[in-house]
Amino acid sequence: MCLDPGHSGYTGSEIDPATGLNVGDNTGAPGELESNWDLALRTRAKLEEMGYEVVLAKDSAYDYESLRARADRANSCDIWVRLHFDDGGFTGVMRPPPDAARCPVADPSRITVVDPTVAAGSDALARAVAPFLGLAVRDDTGGTSQGNTTPPGHPTCLIGSVLSRVPVICIENRADLVRDNPSGRELVASQLTQAIDAYFESR
Ligand SMILES: [Zn+2]
Repeated sequence: MCLDPGHSGYTGSEIDPATGLNVGDNTGAPGELESNWDLALRTRAKLEEMGYEVVLAKDSAYDYESLRARADRANSCDIWVRLHFDDGGFTGVMRPPPDAARCPVADPSRITVVDPTVAAGSDALARAVAPFLGLAVRDDTGGTSQGNTTPPGHPTCLIGSVLSRVPVICIENRADLVRDNPSGRELVASQLTQAIDAYFESR
């Protein structure tokens, strides 16, 4: 599986030649880089102990990997689990709704639709994982990436979701549990490990 500690030590745009979408990642909410990286390392250690093979979507807390580069790593795995938290109190396990799509602002006819198999598989993954974390299952919000928009007639989704070829979820953890809270991260890592193991056991 691929564990993706959200965001990069970089702010800017990068256009993906295949889709025209801005796949640049940024630094996120204060503390996300350090906390999501540490949470990923803790979760990876637990999963590897259980025999799972874990690929990280970037190489260090401040490493820059675009959403395209992250998707390329994730698409060689069985599932893609993205780790985030939100400053505004938003939490949940997000997955792309069916028929969700994105396009570049500069070229609205260049539409990338989430793969139907990916949407269905992501829903199953989200429903398996959410109860272990005590979080609700939600639709991808689409995020705030500059230069991208949503084509008329389609629900929105995250850029990572339209690039994914495997089930993908974006977890917005409780900020108070994850930021500046090593014991909270250890708890979330344990819950997430149980969740992923239960998902693969039931597949
Ligand atoms: Zn984030």
